[in-house]
Amino acid sequence: MFDSRRKFLKAAGLGSLALFFLSSCKKLGLSSKKKFKGNVIIIGGGAAGIYAGYLLKELGIEFTILEASDKMGGRMGKLTGFSDYPIDLGAQWMHGNQSIVGEMVELFQADVSLDDTEYMYWFENELIPTLPKSVDIFDKDGLPDLSFADFAMQKGLSPSYLPIIESLAGDYGADASDLSARWVYEEEQNWSSGEGDYKFKETFYDLIFSNFGAQVANNVTVNSIVNTIDYSSDKVLVSTNSGQQFSADKVLITVPITILQSNDISFVPPLPVNKTTAFSKIGMGAGMKVFMKFSSHFFADNIYGGAVCAAYFNDAIGKNTADHVLIAFVMGQQAEALSAMNSDQSIINALLAELDTMYNGQASANFLGAFVQDYFKAPFIRGAYSYSKVGMNKNTRAIAAESVNSCLFFGGEAMNLNGHHQTVHGAIETAYREVMKIMKEV
Ligand SMILES: Cc1cc2nc3c(=O)[nH]c(=O)nc-3n(C[C@H](O)[C@H](O)[C@H](O)COP(=O)(O)OP(=O)(O)OC[C@H]3O[C@@H](n4cnc5c(N)ncnc54)[C@H](O)[C@@H]3O)c2cc1C
Repeated sequence: MFDSRRKFLKAAGLGSLALFFLSSCKKLGLSSKKKFKGNVIIIGGGAAGIYAGYLLKELGIEFTILEASDKMGGRMGKLTGFSDYPIDLGAQWMHGNQSIVGEMVELFQADVSLDDTEYMYWFENELIPTLPKSVDIFDKDGLPDLSFADFAMQKGLSPSYLPIIESLAGDYGADASDLSARWVYEEEQNWSSGEGDYKFKETFYDLIFSNFGAQVANNVTVNSIVNTIDYSSDKVLVSTNSGQQFSADKVLITVPITILQSNDISFVPPLPVNKTTAFSKIGMGAGMKVFMKFSSHFFADNIYGGAVCAAYFNDAIGKNTADHVLIAFVMGQQAEALSAMNSDQSIINALLAELDTMYNGQASANFLGAFVQDYFKAPFIRGAYSYSKVGMNKNTRAIAAESVNSCLFFGGEAMNLNGHHQTVHGAIETAYREVMKIMKEV
């Protein structure tokens, strides 16, 4: 798709990012129609905030990105030195390749491969390759708003299946008791990004932050914890914990939904009640990844159904490595329980004990080291990703994402309305959408 255009642009002396921008503009319907001439503050330097900054830069709009932590990345990060390949701390799979991220992969010729390795289930104290019964639990229209756990029981699955249902819910960053079978089903009807999960030979982090992050790095002010957004007059005033004040014509807020729910940021005047109610109806549970390095590959590539951690994945899939790294992908109450332990060592011990039970002591015997990435404890994230909670409704995300007074705009993965929340490409799509809205403002 890009080949002929790439040749043309190369000949015209334009680099790949210019090419990407042109493609972005085409999708945004932007060019001479550009109206907005003011300045923008973006709050949050994750995938959505950085990509919005990139678009504004290319459009020649003045902008600043205020990031609370000491670096950009948000729920994406890169760990080097732990293994012989760089590790993605947060997002690591491209979910489907029919998306803006799929286009970036193609453009930058990132090396990705389909991760379609075999599953093993820890079921009734045994590791087995196939479950006795299918747990396909969200398969029809018009479901009552039941949780995954309740729906599974209604479908006649025995309580032995609950740990497996928990691991399914964990993929959605939720507990089976809180994740709505109905809204997951309905939101997934909108999914248009293609099938399959792809691993990056290098890192997903670099695809976004080495390419687009580098473009806007000079506009990012780190350690800027926004605590107040005053939109009571013509200019929006944004204040930080350290007493800095910024003023802008438009503000794009891309912080995680947990931050909006917990009122870390005061809005003056307060946001409309229907909007704050919508925030509260979107779920976001605890989330943690623990990378464990072993001296041998004694484990299956995907292990579902553990009571301490419902899902373990072989991180070496798709990587050029001699190392054996298993990820404990812990979500919901399991992540809360581990996060409450008093040290990383206690977390690691609990996981090793579970793996030892599954693999007859081989985990401890082969253990070389571990790295704990706890997003629940990360002060400006406080969870994994948004999920469709029992009690939400069809318009919840749309109301949460509505702009306010033509000056406050809302992006980030939880504000995705295409069924692509919980993903990097979903976060980036909201950057597109909100920049388009801003550019149409006078
Ligand atoms: C463990 C884990 C695994 C995942 N795996 C995948 C995967 O394989 N594939 C995939 O596509 N997606 C995955 N995701 C989801 C993906 O990482 C997110 O959807 C995406 O990165 C969210 O980007 P964002 O810009 O919306 O939010 P964030 O990345 O959270 O960025 C928001 C930023 O706002 C900042 N902030 C918060 N409060 C303030 C404040 N008061 N002032 C200023 N700044 C503030 C935060 O520090 C943060 O940097 C995963 C997420 C997690 C946690």
